[in-house]
Amino acid sequence: MFVNSKKTLDNKDVSILLVEDDPSVAGSVIDGLEHAGLTIIHVDNGTKAIAAAGKSHFDLILLDLGLPDMDGQDVCRAIRATSDVPIIILSARSEEIDRVLALEFGADDYMVKPFGMRELIARIRAVSRRAGSLQESPTQTVNQTIGSLVIDRRAQRVFLSDVEVHLTPKEFDLLAYLANDPGAVFRRNDIMTEVWDTNWYGTTKTVDAHVAAIRKKLGHQEWIESVRGVGFRLSAPAS
Ligand code: CA
Repeated sequence: MFVNSKKTLDNKDVSILLVEDDPSVAGSVIDGLEHAGLTIIHVDNGTKAIAAAGKSHFDLILLDLGLPDMDGQDVCRAIRATSDVPIIILSARSEEIDRVLALEFGADDYMVKPFGMRELIARIRAVSRRAGSLQESPTQTVNQTIGSLVIDRRAQRVFLSDVEVHLTPKEFDLLAYLANDPGAVFRRNDIMTEVWDTNWYGTTKTVDAHVAAIRKKLGHQEWIESVRGVGFRLSAPAS
């Protein structure tokens, strides 16, 4: 087992266990994820993977299916028997895995090789978000573009058609939260918990007031759509 790097991401160590016997695949994944500021621990067979997962905490596991000593599906089941750690399967095309099968043996997602690093990081981000870990993702340091809207999370600035939109800190936090998954509906209670405070006792009117203010500043109601009885979603206006 090799510790390839020890880096922090927003003061939080994010460690990923990579289980991959192909040195060239492992090398490129390690390079890409280290570049994104993640800590990678690499093992090259199933026995070591199960041992490592039992011994240390990982934020996420990337698991190759075709391993020299045992089937990756069995590795996944063995880890899943004792841990809720998010698992993304790395599958060669010839292995004919599908999402349903992956979910059946306890994986959270799968990627078919060859894959690009941007896609891998996006999947890691999505799976981690669903798992409730990794609140700050590696790609959040890069400007995000939604239609004509650009969100710079690092500088906390927002641009619409290259013109800066001046938001209050809470308006920015709310917009950035909805932008975590453009098009997805976020529930009011989740918005209040995530954007305001984990011990929120206030009224949901606060959310509505901030949504109204952001809509006004973006100049179009459709940027933030109200979903009756549920919450809000962010998407670029059709027109
Ligand atoms: Ca393999």
